[in-house]
Amino acid sequence: MLKGKSALITGSTSGIGLGIAQALAAQGCGIMMNGFGDAAAIERKRAEMAQTHGVAVCYNGADMSVPAEIGSLVADTAARLGGVDILVNCAGIQHTAAVEEFPPEKWDAIIAINLSSSFHTIHHALPYMKAAGWGRIVNIASVHGLVASAQKAAYVTAKHGLVGLTKVVALETAGLGITCNAICPGWTRTELIEPQIAARAQALGVELEEGGRDLLAEKQPSRQFVTIEQLGQVAVFLCSDAASQITGSPIPVDGGWTAQ
Ligand code: NAD
Repeated sequence: MLKGKSALITGSTSGIGLGIAQALAAQGCGIMMNGFGDAAAIERKRAEMAQTHGVAVCYNGADMSVPAEIGSLVADTAARLGGVDILVNCAGIQHTAAVEEFPPEKWDAIIAINLSSSFHTIHHALPYMKAAGWGRIVNIASVHGLVASAQKAAYVTAKHGLVGLTKVVALETAGLGITCNAICPGWTRTELIEPQIAARAQALGVELEEGGRDLLAEKQPSRQFVTIEQLGQVAVFLCSDAASQITGSPIPVDGGWTAQ
């Protein structure tokens, strides 16, 4: 039923965003990819997704910390794919440090990319969804939108804010055929968390894999990483008709992290 819908996924050149883009492409959606990385590698992923699933896949490298570029990204999506039916806000960065050592420029960057960019994409995308009488907004928050961890002041603040934004947009769009939800993943093995795995391994004097197991043991009761394929299927479900009455919900996908 998602065949022919257009989907903009910010931060989809790697990790969770790429997994969600692939899952939506497999449902027949036209895809707008966004994110940073090596140009040739991005082009390879774009062409492969288009060929595997027989859908249009475009790429726009807008910087999610620059509001004007975000406006252009949404307009470009509508121009190339015929609308903006599905918006997945996934671009994100991380920096870990205690509050008194937290570099202010890192705070600003995390708030801009992990929180404010979602306001800007939603602000520009909603008119297209309202005109179509249908829309799905999926914000990739985190367990850190629901609970805190030390050393992550900016990230936890941004993700809690994103859950709040999700609820407001859900209320403002209720009954219009549009839903807005947040997925709250626990540890998912992507580039974003590799520095944390490496730091843990170094602190313990063990191999990378053992560092990863130690991180999981501390917070994630399943002791298994969430996969990008699983998150892709959760996003597909939230875009489905079955989920049309789910709105304003933060949905943990965290191996039991937030049940504790
Ligand atoms: P990732 O590093 O693989 O992906 C991040 C994506 O965001 C990349 O495509 C990157 O190019 C893009 N990006 C970064 N800065 C950008 C900018 N200024 N403009 C445009 N794109 C930008 O990491 P990931 O783990 O897949 O992260 C995706 C989202 O999932 C993030 O919002 C992150 O907070 C969230 N998340 C990750 C985990 C985890 O354990 N990996 C858990 C919960 C939530």
